[in-house]
Amino acid sequence: MAWRALAKNALSTSSSYLSNCGVATTASHILHTTLPDVLLCSGTLRSSGIRNYHASLSLLSWRGRREEAPGLKTPGREKQVKRMSKPQAPPVEARYVPPKPKRPIKPAQVKTVDIFEGMTVVELAKRTGSSVRSLQEIMASVGEKVGSEFDPITIDVAELVSTEVGVNVKRLHSEEGAILKPRPPVVTVMGHVDHGKTSLLDALRKTAVAAKEAGGITQHLGAFVVSMPSGASITFLDTPGHAAFTAMRARGAAVTDIVTLVVAADDGVMPQTLEAMSHAKEANVPVVVAINKCDKPGADPERVRIQLGSEGLPLEDLGGDVQVVEISALTGTGLDKLEEALLLQAEIMDLKARVDGPAQAYVVEARVDRGRGPLVTAIVKSGTLSVGQYIVVGAEWGRIRAIRDTLGRATELAGPAIPVEIEGMKGLPMAGDDITVVGSEERARMLSQGRRKKLEQGRLERMSQENQEICAKEGDDTDEAPQRVELAVIVKGDVQGTVQAVADSLRSLNSPQLFVNIVHVGVGPISQSDVDMAQACNACIVGFNLRSLPSPISTSAKKANIKIFQHRVIYHLLEEIGKLIVERAPGTAETQVTGEAEVLSIFEVKSRNNSKVPDVKIAGCRIIDGRFSRSSTMRLLRSGEVVFEGSCASLKKEKQDVEAVGKGNECGLVIQDCQDFKVGDVIQCLEQVIRKPKFISSESGAVRIEC
Ligand code: GDP
Repeated sequence: MAWRALAKNALSTSSSYLSNCGVATTASHILHTTLPDVLLCSGTLRSSGIRNYHASLSLLSWRGRREEAPGLKTPGREKQVKRMSKPQAPPVEARYVPPKPKRPIKPAQVKTVDIFEGMTVVELAKRTGSSVRSLQEIMASVGEKVGSEFDPITIDVAELVSTEVGVNVKRLHSEEGAILKPRPPVVTVMGHVDHGKTSLLDALRKTAVAAKEAGGITQHLGAFVVSMPSGASITFLDTPGHAAFTAMRARGAAVTDIVTLVVAADDGVMPQTLEAMSHAKEANVPVVVAINKCDKPGADPERVRIQLGSEGLPLEDLGGDVQVVEISALTGTGLDKLEEALLLQAEIMDLKARVDGPAQAYVVEARVDRGRGPLVTAIVKSGTLSVGQYIVVGAEWGRIRAIRDTLGRATELAGPAIPVEIEGMKGLPMAGDDITVVGSEERARMLSQGRRKKLEQGRLERMSQENQEICAKEGDDTDEAPQRVELAVIVKGDVQGTVQAVADSLRSLNSPQLFVNIVHVGVGPISQSDVDMAQACNACIVGFNLRSLPSPISTSAKKANIKIFQHRVIYHLLEEIGKLIVERAPGTAETQVTGEAEVLSIFEVKSRNNSKVPDVKIAGCRIIDGRFSRSSTMRLLRSGEVVFEGSCASLKKEKQDVEAVGKGNECGLVIQDCQDFKVGDVIQCLEQVIRKPKFISSESGAVRIEC
């Protein structure tokens, strides 16, 4: 019999082995020993340096208590020699699980059609793919006069009808025949955090924003105009300096003519420098480089030039068209040169706009003022905005009650490229929304309603798509869908751009196990109604860039056990919320290899002739890595292939049953139902562990949760 040969072989490898055995001293004795009489040898196998291991009485009862390790299959007896397919991963990693076929996720695609003033119903029908009749029916239902399908319709009616049939619109404005006049450039300052964007803007507008600013990061979008001695002017947008505000920055770039890329001369090109470069490239906006901090002893503008050149920016010095100016925001050196460079770039671009006619404008910022209601900082792209006009801004509408310039002076009109503050909106629009002038209050209401409906549809579609994606990802990752923890959040902030950006950043923490559910966003201080809402939907409240909490609100939140997080720096907020949800996450059960042992010798314990109890094979092992525990599942590997997996039936160190054995020790191991050990096999100890998600933040300030 093979096992006899094996045992003989094992015995012959060490002549001293038997003599060292305390009780069983002959090969025949061992080979014919019966299970209840299992004899315990305590000697040392000198040649291999391994101790002898024997089954104890407790081991003999393992048949009666077959147990399965949680989460792992214990193969039945018939499976004991069945080889599993070769794992893809090295043997020390967990069992290979073939990937599930991915469920296809169909992205929701909504058509966008171009519309313009004076188009016909026939043209609109062609673009939207709807019948002329259905469009005319919609026109009638919104109270429009329905004439011939070749009659021109207004751009507003075209939008209303298009929204009803479920398509997105892009309003085209013809400049044909209009008088175009030169306009100032709109400039956005971008660059890596701490490279001096705020200081530069501060120096340009001669106010001390940098000193007041929390965490040194510009948190919201504003705008101001720098007037030059020559009479020319430049409009600057304040842009945020953190990766979490990418969305806002992208919106800013939509109205931007030129990007000023700030690079610190002592630091060089950094991740957000490259990010800013790609934003400008995507938006097809020219760049003027401002190498800042040239006053510093470690400044090396030449190095910055080389770095930018090697990143593909065609600098003027290297034969390209990108101007480079060396400045110091701190001392003010070179600022005049920067302004000249910007005006030169604007001249090359021949920036002109239509001044007459209805305005087309964009929201740069929106906030609520207690006395004045919603206030919108806008930049007119073309045409002129005037007091008294009805406007539709994103999904909101209003009638312009007052226009103020950046110095707070009231004015009747707002022309191209000059930032103004508009009063009179019924609701608060979002930064980046377009401003459309319409003929009447009724038209404004209808358009805003149509857009709201469209927005809501889009939101629901996005939510269902996100859910599908998360479900599909869960299905890919594991057999059992992990439990998902939801954190409901109410976001309040000082201005609309901030709350949008904070909500977007918080959503970026979403993962298959954790879901940040933004239940409400609002501008203004945290109020009692926020606390009430938080209580109703079991939410926490995030306040961003707000003044300290009034004590009645703080008391009532404490009473209601509502957590309020107040921050002025986005990454501190993300860190706190990230850690909170990671704590709450249940984690996923995972099989982990906690130890690895090498089989040095095999011993066989034979049952009595007439006994129903089967023979037992004991693997004499040395733990080469980690630790083995009695309650774990064991995996037997031969030449890297899994040959058996089963629960541990006995673990002994010397003569003693033990619960665990650590690295460097020798032990005797019995795997339930396993009779197939060979010298040189590797045994892995597998344990079920709960892996918690991790909050990860990178140097650039980007954060994510890894499940
Ligand atoms: P931002 O994060 O890009 O807006 O950078 P800040 O404008 O907040 O500047 C970051 C730090 O650099 C602040 O401590 C500034 O005082 C400093 N700084 C900005 N510009 C200069 C400069 O031209 N020279 C020197 N020496 N320090 C500067």
